[in-house]
Amino acid sequence: MLPELVAAGNSLKTAIDIIKYFTSISKENAINEKAIELQQIILSLQQNILEAQENYQKLYNEKEIIEKQLKEIMNWNKEKNNYKISNLTNDVFVYVLKETKNEVEKSLKFCSNCFKNQKISIIQLDQDNMLEKVYICHSCGSKYKIKNSSEPTVGIIKTNFRRGY
Ligand SMILES: [Zn+2]
Repeated sequence: MLPELVAAGNSLKTAIDIIKYFTSISKENAINEKAIELQQIILSLQQNILEAQENYQKLYNEKEIIEKQLKEIMNWNKEKNNYKISNLTNDVFVYVLKETKNEVEKSLKFCSNCFKNQKISIIQLDQDNMLEKVYICHSCGSKYKIKNSSEPTVGIIKTNFRRGY
C-alpha cells in the first residue's frame, strides 16, 4: 500500500473527528450544516483514496508479474546460447550442449519440442531392439525413433502428448 495514501487517509479521519467535535459543541444551525457538508466532502475524499490504493495495488501486482516474465525471458536468452541444434539422424533434430569437456554431458541430447517451449529436457533411451532405438522425453512425452540400419530414415513419432514430471 502506498504510504502517502495511507497518511492522507489518516489525516482525513482526523479531520472528520474534529468536525464531529465542533458539531457536538456548536449550537449554531448554519455551522452545523456547513460541518455536515464538509464531512460529506471528506468521506468522498476517503472513498477516492481507497480506490487509488486499490488501483495502486493492482498496478504493483501487474508490475511484479511483468518483471518476473522479463527475468525468465532474459534467463532463457542466456541459457539457450549454451545449446546448438544437432541431427540425431538425417531428419530428426535435437539440441546438444555447445561446449563441454565432460564426456557424459557431450552425449546428452535434449528434446527439441521442449526447447521451443523454453525448457531443457534430456531425451532418454526408452527401447532398443534389433529394428530400432526409441528415445523419449519424459517431460513432454515426445518420442524420437531411429532405425537400427545403415540408412537412418527416422521421424518424431509422437510430439503432442504432454504430461507432467
Ligand atoms: Zn520434450
